[in-house]
Amino acid sequence: MKVAVVGSSHGGYEAVRGVLQQFPDAQIDWYEKGDFISFLSCGMELYLQGVVKDVNSVSYATIPEMEDKGVHVHINSEVTNIDPAGHKLTVVDVQNGESQTTSYDKLILSVGAVPFQLPVPGKDLQNIYAMRGRDWAIKLRAAEVKPDIKNVTVVGSGYIGIEAAESFAKAGKHVTIVDTNPTILGTYLDTEFTEILAEELKAKNVDLRLSQSVKEYIGNADDQVTAVVSTTGETWDADLVIETAGIRPATKWLAGIVDLDDHGMIKTDEYQQTSQPDIFAVGDATEIEFAPTGKKQLIALASNARRQGRSAAANLTGHNRKTTAVSGSSALHVFDYKFASTGVKDVTADKLGVTVDSVFVTDTKVPPFVPAEYNAEVFFKLTYDPKTRVVMGAQIMSKLDTTANINAISLAIQQHLTVDDLAYADFFFQPGFDRPWNIMNVAAQKAEQKLD
Ligand code: FAD
Repeated sequence: MKVAVVGSSHGGYEAVRGVLQQFPDAQIDWYEKGDFISFLSCGMELYLQGVVKDVNSVSYATIPEMEDKGVHVHINSEVTNIDPAGHKLTVVDVQNGESQTTSYDKLILSVGAVPFQLPVPGKDLQNIYAMRGRDWAIKLRAAEVKPDIKNVTVVGSGYIGIEAAESFAKAGKHVTIVDTNPTILGTYLDTEFTEILAEELKAKNVDLRLSQSVKEYIGNADDQVTAVVSTTGETWDADLVIETAGIRPATKWLAGIVDLDDHGMIKTDEYQQTSQPDIFAVGDATEIEFAPTGKKQLIALASNARRQGRSAAANLTGHNRKTTAVSGSSALHVFDYKFASTGVKDVTADKLGVTVDSVFVTDTKVPPFVPAEYNAEVFFKLTYDPKTRVVMGAQIMSKLDTTANINAISLAIQQHLTVDDLAYADFFFQPGFDRPWNIMNVAAQKAEQKLD
């Protein structure tokens, strides 16, 4: 069997691994239009903050490692067309423009997404950057150490924008974050958390300009960006802009080949099968089932791309594995605070078309007699359906790492557990690690009281 995989990021990498495991005799051709395989944008922050020194180490696999496993790796190779009936691909060598046609029996697409570029005057000025992939990682790292870059504007306060803002603030730059939402991290956390994080950012020399967007970028005679004009009419200095205002699927070339939705997302079933037989798709160019609602939506996470990649590989010769519904679980830090969230938040409920109720609790991570240097306040919010009592989401934050609790809530959502299941669930106690009642128990018990 000849299997072609297009795209070498999270989804493509996992698909190749899955095919190697499930079909050891398959011929695997792995196509990547860039000159590097399997760069992890997730690791970019660690590189920008100097924790990881070598940009090339921020990857899952090298070409020699994959070739040793028998994979034919084709870098600088853009797949530009597919003939589904003839099982043929057109591959263009991006260095010399030459194209060739090759065959496949099964095809897995993990073409991902590209950063959204704001369509505003001045958008083509120098020093307007994105944050995705190895090339941008190298450029951003170089910008961090340039003394003439003093003022940095980050457009968008999702997790990528926050990673950019923190990295440049730690590099000694004055950072301004602009966001159309009234709060930072608007799809990840409710205001109980974002208010604390907003104060933390301000204390670290990061200005927040919320409920506004960019109207225009101003440049100098050398076409370098020098200022940002806001939709509020205000203007501020900027030597560098990092746009992290969303992504768009890299699927224009697939129109008419596989079915796409109105946003250009590749339509797949729960086995990652596209509208064409023998063509599968995974990752940020596809939607995934959101467990709290059972509806499909874009949740652009590497964790999802990898799950889908594994499913696609398993389903090449039949319906063997459905992709599990997910809850958009993610974790991040904002300077000293570490947080994680999953499922529905108050702030996202309306848009998702669900009615939820929630309880917010604070506690210490370990019993109060444990000295402050080993202890910290924990903030936790549990969200549930007030009619069915089913758990719909949760958020946690502390200066100590309590984020793993969110994995338990993600499983609770997937299994449709109720607040009653969680209220007295068996969680460990040891004073060095936790309290006799884990904060998930505490919140679920409070939810029971509120509901009864
Ligand atoms: P992409 O990563 O978009 O990669 C697609 C690949 O396909 C690219 O290499 C591209 O060059 C190639 N390609 C596209 N079209 C073609 C073609 N026609 N021919 C050949 N090659 C092609 N997720 C998490 O779960 N946790 C995190 O901590 C996290 N942190 C992140 C931090 C940052 C800064 C960013 C940008 C993202 C982060 N993500 C994180 C999200 C995660 O990186 C994405 O969800 C994931 O990369 C999606 O993988 P993918 O395979 O769908 O596509």
